[in-house]
Amino acid sequence: MSTYSARLHFAPKVPVAWIVQLYRREALQLQDDELVDKVGGRLYARCLDILMVSDGRVACPECQTEFHVPWIGESAARVAQCPHCTWSITAGTFHASFEHQDLLGINARRAFAEFIEGYPEARGYPARMLLIDRLVHAVHAGGGPAARNLLEGRPGRCSRSLTPWQVARDPRDTRGGNTRKWARASVTDY
Ligand SMILES: [Zn+2]
Repeated sequence: MSTYSARLHFAPKVPVAWIVQLYRREALQLQDDELVDKVGGRLYARCLDILMVSDGRVACPECQTEFHVPWIGESAARVAQCPHCTWSITAGTFHASFEHQDLLGINARRAFAEFIEGYPEARGYPARMLLIDRLVHAVHAGGGPAARNLLEGRPGRCSRSLTPWQVARDPRDTRGGNTRKWARASVTDY
């Protein structure tokens, strides 16, 4: 058995500016397929890593097998070995690898899981935009921690920039049927 201290790499957060740009184009009725794929792909990778770390799982860097690393309440020296090859990691190394990276996501766990489940099947702009919007709505509803899991930017700034679109696209909102018009006004306010 060998223990490598090779650093684990996780998907980066998604810049708030990308989300803002996507909603700006949407408000102008411009369906930017390239941008929706870029935003969706990054959100997907980030959600996968949030759920993996939150469940105490790791993807073996040698053979990609996922396995559980017990670390909560464990000694830092406790070793967890990949069930498929010789790679292993200690509880201490595992914890250090994701510390201060906002990868422990509890508040919006269900939203992350639903996005992961739906995204691979969502083909084309409208289906992907719908899933992205649901996720953005959910992390905002989950408060600062959920937004910090996913988005690059101060939580306060996230809230200020995302609230109007959430309201604009909420089907329960009765302030008028023209959501695009309302979204456009909100973008101008940003
Ligand atoms: Zn392995």
